[in-house]
Amino acid sequence: DGITLERVREYVWEIPQDGDMRVPARVLASEELLEEIKEDKTLEQITNTTHLPGITNHAICMPDGHQGYGFPVGGVGALDAENGCISPGAVGYDINCGVRMMRTNLTYDDVRGHEEELVESLFANVPSGLGGGGIVEAGVDTVDEILARGVDWALENGYAVADDLRHCEDEGMREGAAPDKVSQKAKDRGKNQIGSLGSGNHFLEVQRVTDVFDADVGEAFGLEEDQIVVLIHCGSRGLGHQTCNDYLRKIEQQHQGLLDQLPDKELAAAPAGSQLAADYYGAMNAAINFAWVNRQLIMHRTRQVFERVFDRSWEEMEMDLLYDVAHNIAKKETHTVGADGEERELYVHRKGATRAFPAGHPEVPSAYREVGQPVIIPGSMGAGSYVLRGGENSMDLTFGSTAHGAGRLMSRTQAKDEFWGGDVKQDLADQQEIHVKAQSGATIAEEAPGVYKDVDEVVRVSDELGIGDKVARTFPVCNIKG
Ligand code: 5GP
Ligand code: MN
Ligand code: MN
Repeated sequence: DGITLERVREYVWEIPQDGDMRVPARVLASEELLEEIKEDKTLEQITNTTHLPGITNHAICMPDGHQGYGFPVGGVGALDAENGCISPGAVGYDINCGVRMMRTNLTYDDVRGHEEELVESLFANVPSGLGGGGIVEAGVDTVDEILARGVDWALENGYAVADDLRHCEDEGMREGAAPDKVSQKAKDRGKNQIGSLGSGNHFLEVQRVTDVFDADVGEAFGLEEDQIVVLIHCGSRGLGHQTCNDYLRKIEQQHQGLLDQLPDKELAAAPAGSQLAADYYGAMNAAINFAWVNRQLIMHRTRQVFERVFDRSWEEMEMDLLYDVAHNIAKKETHTVGADGEERELYVHRKGATRAFPAGHPEVPSAYREVGQPVIIPGSMGAGSYVLRGGENSMDLTFGSTAHGAGRLMSRTQAKDEFWGGDVKQDLADQQEIHVKAQSGATIAEEAPGVYKDVDEVVRVSDELGIGDKVARTFPVCNIKG
């Protein structure tokens, strides 16, 4: 529909600057993935984001990009933190949705024969679904502490060990969290959901490592073929959702002028330097901490389930956190931009995109600094998932980012027309020995492997571009879903 795409070089496409666009937009994709990206509003949306004040270099769409609320899922936008703005829609409703991977020293052979017991026990013990109920029920003071301190709170209360914090982005605690900028309504929605997966796309998956592509980095990450690992995907539940909502409304009330300049109301942004920008940043940081605690509690509960099923302590099973990465987030970061190599503070928005800092970057935890930051890319409940490491070219090409998944191919409504949950579940069990348990058949249909793109192709493009390099591949054994 009138959008011009120019090929810059292999896997790099550009929508040239035109009209009110402040910079060009770039799409990182193979021709095959680009055809899928063209199917929905992704290209229009990534073009719209170039209208945001302070957008730097270019707006970027990752190989797994698809249409989202205003800003595409799989989008990266670096907005000047002094003269630009911050946009809740470019972070996403599920603030700090993300994934963490826990290692074990079990092999696939150790788990075979226990899959049904494991999946039943995980489903019974890890709260999931739309409704309430978490692993801890919190009062007002506790919620505020979780918002302020993140996983540090979990450590003090026996839900984490110090080693967990060392293997989490920002050590599981975002500085500058402002619990008082999170509404009471948001806190009320979150207080009985602490330690819960939520619904639909969120999951807990027991996986086996099928391939290690890079032996040295694989060793640094503690990954070996045939090893059992656990992948947890969830976010900030109702608390994050309500926070996003609250601030979108406030922007409409207080910054209508900026809103009127934007081609899509869903891109609503607060100008850098305004009180509202500071308030949203503080509230978002608090919601980020909440999500980290959420994933930490689920990991803690998973360790307990494994202890019962395998009759050994989790320490004996070496159930250590490999890494926790966020994929719906904004962060003030310093980047080198422009031809003269100027250093600038930017709000880097990564929505359905993962930070992928290369080896040597000071913000990569010391355990991994020599090899690069672990990046975790889930595929689907019937396909592989990947562990990558931040690539050498990520700082130059993507503000240190890569993809976050395979990316959706069809809407949930379409998926329910296309698939029947009971059949999908049966096929996964019969054909691939994957044991799935979900709150409803509808969830399984909405999340059927066929609703997602080809994760192998997404990861291949990331690897070829040198923004995130392939380290290992995993395959599902058991999966629970909300
Ligand atoms: P999102 O955060 O956009 O909801 O999902 C991230 C990615 O997770 C999706 O793009 C998809 O590739 C992947 N995914 C969704 N469901 C599952 C699942 O059950 N298992 C695995 N391994 N990946 C999944
Ligand atoms: Mn989410
Ligand atoms: Mn997610």
